[in-house]
Amino acid sequence: MRLLPAPAGSGIVFRRTDLDDFEIAAVGRNVAKVSYATSLMRQGVLISTTEHLLSALIGMGIDNVIVALDNLELPILDGSALPYVDAILNGGIRVQRRRREYIRVLKPVEVREGNKFIGVYPGSGYRIQYTIDFPAPIGQQRTSIDLAAETYGALIAAARTFGYKADETRLRDMGLIRGASPENAIVLGPKGPENGPLRFKDEYVKHKVLDLIGDLALAGRRIEGHVVAERAGHAMHTALVSRLLKDRSAWEMARVPVAESAHEESEGLSAVVGRRPALMGA
Ligand SMILES: [Zn+2]
Repeated sequence: MRLLPAPAGSGIVFRRTDLDDFEIAAVGRNVAKVSYATSLMRQGVLISTTEHLLSALIGMGIDNVIVALDNLELPILDGSALPYVDAILNGGIRVQRRRREYIRVLKPVEVREGNKFIGVYPGSGYRIQYTIDFPAPIGQQRTSIDLAAETYGALIAAARTFGYKADETRLRDMGLIRGASPENAIVLGPKGPENGPLRFKDEYVKHKVLDLIGDLALAGRRIEGHVVAERAGHAMHTALVSRLLKDRSAWEMARVPVAESAHEESEGLSAVVGRRPALMGA
């Protein structure tokens, strides 16, 4: 897998180098199937497990990039987005002259299914509040973050995916976690993680935030608004994206003036990976 620079305004686009450079844009209309991971499909061509890379790209403020891939599955790596963040930083980030485009949320959009809930609301910046409630040993965790490259890199990127050991055989039989191992996921026994210490006390809910950022990238542009999620998952995340995009009165394409920047001068400008292609294993 390689990350290549793309012109301002082009967004995030996957390219299958093993299929004549067939391209699939990371946008809601290409969402294929969603269960334990998010996949994209166009004209029968699949890209699977997109959420961790998309999360790293949005988290690090990359707007435009071509993700060149020679097979259908993105590497799972250590189960977090940290190796992707390192690759992006290694390749370098280049600020483009064009103002960054945002999807600015204008009114609440919500999806509820049983006790699962997700909603997005008008508000400045990109803020996420997530609550999970899993069986022991995880229990209930809640976190909220204000997304900026610094907070993403330090607080979210390293959070790994997780799975219960009790579910493992069943999931493996269903072909759902082909590659899962203690190297790429937190393996949970009855008393807690079986493979070493957690990277954060609340690593589980932080990983859900990581997934959410990756799935909401499928809105096609960075979101300006506040997201609240409770017991959600990939299916709820992508359902919110399609509900939001469908309701044209709920959002507008906006550009934030550079002068309004709170962090740094380049904040309002779009960005792309550096001239050196960022390389990933697998
Ligand atoms: Zn994940």
